[in-house]
Amino acid sequence: MRRTLIVGNWKMNGDRAALAELGGIATAAAACPAIDVAICPPATLIAAATGSGIAIGGQDCHAAARGAHTGCLSAGMLVEAGAALCIVGHSERRCDQHETDADVRAKAIAAMAAGMIAIVCVGETEAERDAGDAVAVVAAQIDGSVPDDATPDALVVAYEPVWAIGTGRVPSIADVAEMHGAIRTRLSAKLGAAAAGGVRILYGGSMNGANAAALLAVADVDGGLVGGASLTAAAFVPIIEAAQAVG
Ligand code: PEP
Repeated sequence: MRRTLIVGNWKMNGDRAALAELGGIATAAAACPAIDVAICPPATLIAAATGSGIAIGGQDCHAAARGAHTGCLSAGMLVEAGAALCIVGHSERRCDQHETDADVRAKAIAAMAAGMIAIVCVGETEAERDAGDAVAVVAAQIDGSVPDDATPDALVVAYEPVWAIGTGRVPSIADVAEMHGAIRTRLSAKLGAAAAGGVRILYGGSMNGANAAALLAVADVDGGLVGGASLTAAAFVPIIEAAQAVG
């Protein structure tokens, strides 16, 4: 009932030549019909990436529909360019752009209102985990960042421990299981058990072709949000194939 979703986040990487990678990714995705695959390239490449055969998403959107916000893009603009999904609240934006839970929630509402799936990112820092606060921190992010009336067709949550992003480090399988279970429980309290049961919860943070199968086999892990290993078909396709094999 929850289709596995594998999303690539290219961050501020990639140019038009990099779009050639989408061919191999789309071929693999077509051969793995049990799972959904999407790529979130830089916004400048969204329009050119549509038609690749896989879903295309944005990496951020503004909460407002229009206005005096130089350099920003509205959710409607992303949709017009061809985006079907939008990442909001990535830890790099929470850190670099000082985005709060309230900001992330407003962006998620805007993305959903424009017809996109909002991928709401949450995750603790290493200091928070070391202090034993990881579950409490993420629960508070869920409370503050997820819109109250979010529905499973429009909401995806991505658990991304900040210390695992781009570092080659991943949490233990037990810690991933604990956190994803806790997120599901928190979503149930917020959205109701029926809705929460349909929300896909992705794991993100140094996922690659070697560790994907083990991570994706964890209960309540419904897919992956992948950064570095999504930049080439050679690195991303094994993750897609692992997801298909896990089912
Ligand atoms: C990310 O930034 O969303 C991410 C998961 O990055 P990486 O896979 O490179 O750790």
